[in-house]
Amino acid sequence: MGPSNYTARWKHARSFPACAVIHCCTCLALACAPARTQPAPTGAERARKTPAPAVPRAAPLAAADTLQDAADPKVRRVLQLTILGEFPREVLAEIEASLRAELQVDVLPTIERDLPQSAYYPPRKRYRAERLLAALEQNGTPGVSQLGLTVVDISTTKGKHVDWGVFGLGTLGGDSAVISVHRLRRDKPAPALYHFRIKTTAVHEAGHMLGLDHCTEPRCLMNDAEGSIRTVDESSGKLGPNCRTELDRLAPAQRTPPHD
Ligand SMILES: [Zn+2]
Ligand SMILES: [Zn+2]
Repeated sequence: MGPSNYTARWKHARSFPACAVIHCCTCLALACAPARTQPAPTGAERARKTPAPAVPRAAPLAAADTLQDAADPKVRRVLQLTILGEFPREVLAEIEASLRAELQVDVLPTIERDLPQSAYYPPRKRYRAERLLAALEQNGTPGVSQLGLTVVDISTTKGKHVDWGVFGLGTLGGDSAVISVHRLRRDKPAPALYHFRIKTTAVHEAGHMLGLDHCTEPRCLMNDAEGSIRTVDESSGKLGPNCRTELDRLAPAQRTPPHD
């Protein structure tokens, strides 16, 4: 899906810096197809039917299912983490663990690439987030959602603000997102708080890719920061019950990744 397909409806975001959301035109209707009505079997078909097995199969099937779940857990999406230029690598394992735990996604080994200079915005000496998303998608693997990670300041257009600095930007129900640590470390937080901010922002933006919009649940990580890093700091770092229910509806976990 290219950036030209985006319907640009900007959310005001977790910003003052924070994140804005690009709503893309991907259909979010993931409801099951209606059950097809089976025609009544003919006499010959009835005759070919095999008799019901004598042994109840529920127990062995359930056991087999459990074994398969353990060996091949169900996931909602496959994510590729891509370092754009520089990023604090010591946080990568924590980011990956948070994404797996909160969103039940598979995470591919992190890759690195240069910052796309096509995204540079000379007037403010920073990088346009939506251009970074376009670059991630152009170089991405089909069926794999892209989460870019960077230290440079990133910005996007938000309402009357032509160039507005953000923590991150993600496509709603789409396949690309990016986070920056630039605005997460300006007040020189202690390492534990700094890592918490990064993980929470990464899961927030990945949540947008899975279709979650901002919510008002107390301390849910999908809250809109409304211009304050404090909202991130006061988050539980987890999805609230409403967002978890919504996630199951929008992006049900499957054994075969949905985009494969
Ligand atoms: Zn957001
Ligand atoms: Zn929520």
